[in-house]
Amino acid sequence: MAGTIIDGKAFAAQLREKVGTLAAAFEEKAGRKAGLAVVLVGEDPASQVYVGSKGKATIAANMASFEHRLPDSTSEGELLSLVERLNADPAVDGILVQLPLPDHIDEQAVIAAIDPDKDVDGFHVTNAGRLAVGQSGFVPCTPLGCMMLLTDRLGDLSGLDAVVIGRSNIVGKPMAQLLLDANATVTIAHSRTKDLADVVRRADIVVAAVGRAEMVRADWIKPGATVIDVGINRLAPEPGASKGRLVGDVAFGEAREVAGAITPVPGGVGPMTIAVLLRNTLVAAHRNAGIDLPE
Ligand code: NDP
Repeated sequence: MAGTIIDGKAFAAQLREKVGTLAAAFEEKAGRKAGLAVVLVGEDPASQVYVGSKGKATIAANMASFEHRLPDSTSEGELLSLVERLNADPAVDGILVQLPLPDHIDEQAVIAAIDPDKDVDGFHVTNAGRLAVGQSGFVPCTPLGCMMLLTDRLGDLSGLDAVVIGRSNIVGKPMAQLLLDANATVTIAHSRTKDLADVVRRADIVVAAVGRAEMVRADWIKPGATVIDVGINRLAPEPGASKGRLVGDVAFGEAREVAGAITPVPGGVGPMTIAVLLRNTLVAAHRNAGIDLPE
């Protein structure tokens, strides 16, 4: 029997609705809306779309959205002074600087300038450190979204074998940390891993965050495993089509025949990222206002 499809789109819609209700309650208690500032530098078309949809989702969730769209010619100094102003602005609870930044700006310097308590993307080294040592902070949205899907599906992850493919700071490493905190036995695989298929075959949980279209095949998957596909890859267009299909890092059709449950691309992990960003902003607002966040 084919594995269950994990509907990230529906899960994310529920989470956004819950955040929206809690954000309305926050506004009543705090006398102001929770606020998210999103900063975009340059004209990258994909980034423009992401920033637009983040703004719309923020407003739909009863929060204030502050969009700062700056030209490609913006200097690092100008961007850093904007971040400083946002750090000091009491109407701003969360700050997100859309990556990638133009080449003349040092991304790490910009991330380092964000107040860690407004770093709702969870990329600041202070938040990475907090996650590593088990203190509360902000966890990057994509891996936290994956974790929500996993716990919703599996409940207790104690003792399960998890393989994370990819070790980036924004997905692979925090994902592995979250799985470890949930008492899974975690392996992190990457481009130098030997016999990757054999490593993945041991896993009860596979999280693929590689960026290689349909790399993970059905015969890599342990029967019944839960497969979370973070990858977003666009295939070359079919003859006559203007755009190629979006696929994940897992060969979905064949892997579904073996897996117990699997996320599709699109409609799996992708929609969770914005929903978790809104949730992180809501958490930041409650902390900043000294109000307890209801469960
Ligand atoms: P990075 O390019 O930063 O990291 C990719 C990782 O995959 C690296 O650790 C790399 O290993 C590893 N890798 C590359 N090739 C192989 C291989 N052949 N075998 C095993 N491991 C390999 O990517 P990100 O972590 O930023 O993103 C990963 C994917 O997730 C991308 O498709 C991206 O578009 C998608 N993504 C989706 C999001 C969403 O909202 N759904 C959000 C963020 C990302 P090494 O370290 O050795 O180079």
